[in-house]
Amino acid sequence: MVKTGQDTWLKQDEQFVWHSMKPYNPAGTMVVTESNGSWVTDHEGKKYLDGMAGLWCVNVGYGRQELAEAAYEQLKKMAYFPLTQSHQPAIQLAEKLNGLLGDDYVIFFSNSGSEANETAFKIARQYHQQKGEGERYKIVSRYRAYHGNSMGALAATGQAQRKYKYEPLAPGFIHVAPPDSYRDDANGKSPHELPGVKAIDQAMTWELSETVAAVIMEPIITGGGILVPQEGYMKAAKEVCENHGALLIVDEVICGFGRTGKPFGFMNYDVKPDIITMAKGITSAYLPLSATAVKREIYEAFKGSEEYDYFRHINTFGGNPAACALAVKNIEIMENEDLFARSAELGETAINTLKNQLQDHPLVGDVRGKGLLIGIEMVKDRQSKKPLEVDVVNKVISYCKQNGVIIGKNGATVAGYNNVLTLSPPLTIDVEDLELLLSTVIEGIKQA
Ligand code: PLP
Repeated sequence: MVKTGQDTWLKQDEQFVWHSMKPYNPAGTMVVTESNGSWVTDHEGKKYLDGMAGLWCVNVGYGRQELAEAAYEQLKKMAYFPLTQSHQPAIQLAEKLNGLLGDDYVIFFSNSGSEANETAFKIARQYHQQKGEGERYKIVSRYRAYHGNSMGALAATGQAQRKYKYEPLAPGFIHVAPPDSYRDDANGKSPHELPGVKAIDQAMTWELSETVAAVIMEPIITGGGILVPQEGYMKAAKEVCENHGALLIVDEVICGFGRTGKPFGFMNYDVKPDIITMAKGITSAYLPLSATAVKREIYEAFKGSEEYDYFRHINTFGGNPAACALAVKNIEIMENEDLFARSAELGETAINTLKNQLQDHPLVGDVRGKGLLIGIEMVKDRQSKKPLEVDVVNKVISYCKQNGVIIGKNGATVAGYNNVLTLSPPLTIDVEDLELLLSTVIEGIKQA
C-alpha cells in the first residue's frame, strides 16, 4: 500500500490499528519510522529523545547492528525447533542467565512478561502439590503493581482500573498494601514492623498460611508509581514467606537487566528469590522473549515418578532460537559496556539533579528511584501529599513531547494515583542527552 501525504499514516492507523491504551498518549499518537541510540524518528521526520526506552525495555538502545546480526545468523542456521526438545541458543542463554543470577536456577522460556508470570504461578502451585501440600494455591501480591495482561497475571495485578470490565479473573489472588516510602509511617521501625511487611505477614495468617503458595513482587514497583521500598523491606518479606512456607516470586520484567543499576533488581536488597521472572530487557525488546528462573531444589520436586509429576506447561514460540541468540548478544553488550554500573551512576546523578532543581517546587512531592528507573511524584501540595490531578501531570508529558522528549507516567490505572512522572531511558543514553531529558522535564514541571 503506497502512502503519500504526511497525514496518511495517521489516518490509516486510525482506521486499522487498535492501540492498547489511550491514556498512554496524552500528547497524541505518532508513527515511529526509525530509531537509533536513544532517539526515535516519526513519520514526519521529527526526532524524539526516548526517555522511556520504548516501554521500559530498549536497555542497550536502538540500532545495534550486532543484535540484528545475531538474530539473522541464527535464523539462517536454524530458525525454529520447539523446546519440548532443545537447541543451542536456549542452552547458551540459560547458562548465561545463570551466571548473571549468581546462583543455581533452571530456566523455562516464554515470550512475554505475562507468560513468564503465569508460568511462575503454575510452577509454585504444582511445586506444593509435589511436596504433599496441595492446598497451597493462593498468591499474594501488592496493590499498585502490574504483573501482566493474561487472566492469572492480571488477577495478580493490583491496579483495579486495568481489571474493570474484564472480571471475573483467575481466583486465588490476594492483595496487600505496597511499601510507600513517601507516605508510610516507617520512622524507627524494624524491617519486620514496616507496614508493607506486616501487611504480607497478616494476609498470610488471615488467609491460613497453609493455603498460600507464593508471594509475587517487583523489587521496585514500576508502572504503579516507582515505589522504592524501605531499607530491609524485601529481605524481611522473604523471611515472612519462609516463615509461612510460601515461595517468593520476584517479577524482574522491568527491574531486570540493569534498569536499577544491578543485573537484577533483587540484588539491591540482599535476597535470593525462589522464582524470578524476566522479559523486556532480556532482548532489549528487539525480539519477544521471557524467562522464568526457578531454584534448582524447586525444579527437582518435579522429578517424581507419578504420571503427572512433571511440568505439563508448553509454549510454542517460547525460547525462539533467534530471540535466544539475540539475548545472549544483548547480555554480552551489557557486560562489555559495563551498563549495570553505568545505570547506577547515571541514575544517582539524575536523581540528585532532579532533587536539587525541584526542591522548592510546590507540586513536586518526591523524587525517587534506583539506577535509570526514576519517578517524580506530583502532589497538590506537599503538606497533604494528595496526588495531583492527572490533567496537570499530562501537561508535563505534552510539554516534553512538543519539545522532542518522550517521558511517561504511571498509567491511568492506579485509582487516584496517576501522578508519578516516569523516566526510564536506554542505559546507553549519552550524558548530554540525559541532561536534555532532565532539563526538559524540569522546565515542563515549571510550566505546568
Ligand atoms: N510484569 C511487569 C512488572 C510489567 O511491567 C509487565 C509489562 O509491562 C509485565 C509483567 C507483563 O509483560 P508483557 O507485557 O511482556 O506481557
